[in-house]
Amino acid sequence: MAEPYDTLLQVQGHDTELDQLRHRIEALPERTALADVRARRAALAATLTEVGAQVDGLAARQSALEEQIAASARRRHELEERMRSGAVTASRDLQAMDAEVNQLADRQRALEDEELELMEEEEPLDVALAERQAEAVALEAEEARLVAAVAEAEAGLRASIDTVAAARAAVAAGLPEDLAERYERLRSHLGGVGAARLVGGRCDGCHLTLPSVELERINNLPEDQLATCPQCDRILVH
Ligand SMILES: [Zn+2]
Repeated sequence: MAEPYDTLLQVQGHDTELDQLRHRIEALPERTALADVRARRAALAATLTEVGAQVDGLAARQSALEEQIAASARRRHELEERMRSGAVTASRDLQAMDAEVNQLADRQRALEDEELELMEEEEPLDVALAERQAEAVALEAEEARLVAAVAEAEAGLRASIDTVAAARAAVAAGLPEDLAERYERLRSHLGGVGAARLVGGRCDGCHLTLPSVELERINNLPEDQLATCPQCDRILVH
């Protein structure tokens, strides 16, 4: 191995490391966990809205019942007052009023039973709502923790990228321009690997063994002469 190929392999090493660092930023486990928490929060918000609407519906029915109960009680109270006042003396009228008072009392009991049923129906919904709300608070805290964890991990990786990129730039400055261009072109469409070593008759880029005729031809080339893999076209450092 001779220059500039030794330098080229160093550049390739730095580029591979940079690609791995960038991939690690994309694939941070904290980022995956964050997306999961956000999806769970969205689903929970939908459930909260749904249960909340059910509770509101029951509460509205309950307050309508309470109004009816109050109106019924008021009417009964009025009748009882009039009966007690002595203003009504005819027994037929008093009997009719007494019958209405009894009817109103029956109606009030029925409405109160209905209200009790509503309250029983609402109880488990209130419990569910409180549980989901507590879960939402916990998820919100978890999201905040993960946002910070992603930022921290990302900052660490970006610092590494800066360090490696600086080292790469320093090494790459020593490459002849045409070789650097050829390498970049190959790298861009061959999965990030533009230059590979020839190891034991195999190209370290495509991992295929070279035909013996090609191998012999490359082995006979002067060390400083450019060779390429006949299979993948990468610059082959021999
Ligand atoms: Zn190859």
